[in-house]
Amino acid sequence: MPMVLAEKVSKNFGSNRVLRGISLKVDPGEVLCMVGPSGSGKSTFLRCINHLEVVDGGRLSVDGQLVGYRQKGDKLYELKLKEAAFQRQEIGMVFQRFNLFPHLTALENITLAPMRVKKISKAAATARAVELLERVGLADKGDAYPAHLSGGQQQRVAIARALAMDPKLMLFDEPTSALDPELVGEVLDVMKGLAKSGMTMIVVTHEMGFAREVADTLVFMDEGVVVEAGPPRQILSDPQHDRTKAFLSKVL
Ligand code: ADP
Ligand code: MG
Repeated sequence: MPMVLAEKVSKNFGSNRVLRGISLKVDPGEVLCMVGPSGSGKSTFLRCINHLEVVDGGRLSVDGQLVGYRQKGDKLYELKLKEAAFQRQEIGMVFQRFNLFPHLTALENITLAPMRVKKISKAAATARAVELLERVGLADKGDAYPAHLSGGQQQRVAIARALAMDPKLMLFDEPTSALDPELVGEVLDVMKGLAKSGMTMIVVTHEMGFAREVADTLVFMDEGVVVEAGPPRQILSDPQHDRTKAFLSKVL
């Protein structure tokens, strides 16, 4: 069963047709990288997967479960907030801005959701957080407040925080776009490690080197449609569509 299955997903904001029939599939353990010009609908697509937006048409499912809706016979009912929140627990998301809680230490940022939402004991949550900090290369930063961490370190804490909920899917929305260039590599390295460990990931990024090396599938989106999708080497070296060629000529 695919981890993510989008079938002709559409989303409008008023008369703005932002997603116009997105179909794609991500199998368990796969990494899909998504690129495309600003405004093409990449963030909206991730937000639909993560229950931050509700799709208007088509079907979107995660691990076989319809996102945001329950099906009864051939009728769809929107999920109640609580049901949606439960589905959402299994998806980790990392944003361009790190969104750490400024008044909590790195460790406290990571233990908060497992304790509050999953009712895990403080001791167990802390032990796991220590492990995760080590995994993202910040074993010595548990007691640091976000303001005392670099952007790259904050983003790595944000990744550890998402992982603390044991997600089966990780979504990254331009996770390195707000970073100084010299800090990009350390975050991409953590993401590479995560991909190697078998995590299923959708990554919106302009880092073509990362996409080439890590992605199983590269998707080029423009104006709410998937223009082209395939193995990154193929798309990058031999794009078929003029729009893909034009975009790649600007970012490569
Ligand atoms: P991308 O991430 O590819 O840059 P977005 O998904 O952020 O694109 O935006 C796609 C389009 O949807 C843009 O025209 C944007 O203005 C519009 N949009 C995104 N979010 C909203 C919203 N909450 N309300 C209205 N319009 C939105
Ligand atoms: Mg975006």
